[in-house]
Amino acid sequence: MRSYKVALLPGDGIGPEVVGVAAEILTYLAERFGFTLQMEEALIGGAAYDRYGHPLPEHTLALCKESDAVLLGAVGGPKWDTVQPASLRPEVGALLPLRKELGLYANLRPAKLSSALASASSLRADLVQDGLDILVVRELTGGIYFGQPKGRDADGSRAVDTCVYTRPEIERILRVGFETARGRKRKLCSVDKANVLETSRLWREVAEQMAAQYPDVELTHMLVDNCAMQLVRDPRQFDVIVTENMFGDILSDEAAMITGSLGMLPSASLGDRQTQGGTFGLYEPVHGSAPTIAGQNIANPLATLLSAAMLLRYSLGETKAAEALERAVEKALQDGLRTADIAAPGQPTIGTKEMGQAVRERIES
Ligand code: NAD
Repeated sequence: MRSYKVALLPGDGIGPEVVGVAAEILTYLAERFGFTLQMEEALIGGAAYDRYGHPLPEHTLALCKESDAVLLGAVGGPKWDTVQPASLRPEVGALLPLRKELGLYANLRPAKLSSALASASSLRADLVQDGLDILVVRELTGGIYFGQPKGRDADGSRAVDTCVYTRPEIERILRVGFETARGRKRKLCSVDKANVLETSRLWREVAEQMAAQYPDVELTHMLVDNCAMQLVRDPRQFDVIVTENMFGDILSDEAAMITGSLGMLPSASLGDRQTQGGTFGLYEPVHGSAPTIAGQNIANPLATLLSAAMLLRYSLGETKAAEALERAVEKALQDGLRTADIAAPGQPTIGTKEMGQAVRERIES
């Protein structure tokens, strides 16, 4: 029987509630689709700091490294905003080192808008009434955020950041772009600033060379400034966008906000290690720990459920289970089920657990 190990890191705030719902659904999907899931939980963030004095304990990291995939809720909250030294605060002390230690270099951010939620979009109804489905693939460990030299002159009068990309770094992220496009509509838009930047010219050259290996994928290039405009002018033209670290940081947020619903947005960060079903990855909702609504059973669990679907697809290779979960989420929305954050004024709402139950029933049917 196919068997996988998944690390669950619920974290803080609403994290435990939404990861709890996802864990139940994953257990159900494993039974239903005939595979075994060994799920083990560990503390991270403020919860880990309170218990062990560190937001990323050694054993949490070790658990992640020996798993096929990690499902993370969210970390942080006002209780830990003043922890000293600042390096022990949840976001800085847990998330950044976790991503680094796990070698996660590809960030996948789907911006998917169900036609049932079209009114939540900031765009005109005629642009989004049939829904939207874009995937932004962002390089996560290179470029101007990490390049050396970086710093400020001693007198404070001059500052430097350096943008560096090597051919292998570009190749591996473009490969993720081509491969994911292959599993979708086979359209890949590579975004750069090749009219100005040398790193972008290398990026474009590598993309052109790799295109020969993917004759079934239609590759186009777009300058980042144009892409920012096209995303709000007509986002339907895009399928997969692949781009470097800083451009991806900005464009993935822009694409996500077109959908208008923070509680609906999943993400995946992939590393190099191959698992028996795919590639090791960390999966988490885009939203934070939402401390003001924690513990009240009102958080929207769908971003975490859609992250779990990505986990099934990319790390476990359980595509049928992933599709069943995504279909069930869509069906729950089409049936008018809403948590408070995605409800139209006056529309009835249900709680976190009830939304989980509703999705589960729709997998069954
Ligand atoms: P947030 O995403 O937690 O919340 C923003 C707003 O969206 C709030 O009104 C919140 O109630 C609402 N919201 C978020 N997720 C929701 C959900 N699933 N269902 C319903 N409503 C939801 O962002 P914030 O308020 O800026 O940050 C709160 C804490 O989370 C901070 O400590 C921040 O540092 C941390 N944070 C963590 C991560 C992460 O773990 N990856 C990401 C962002 C923020």
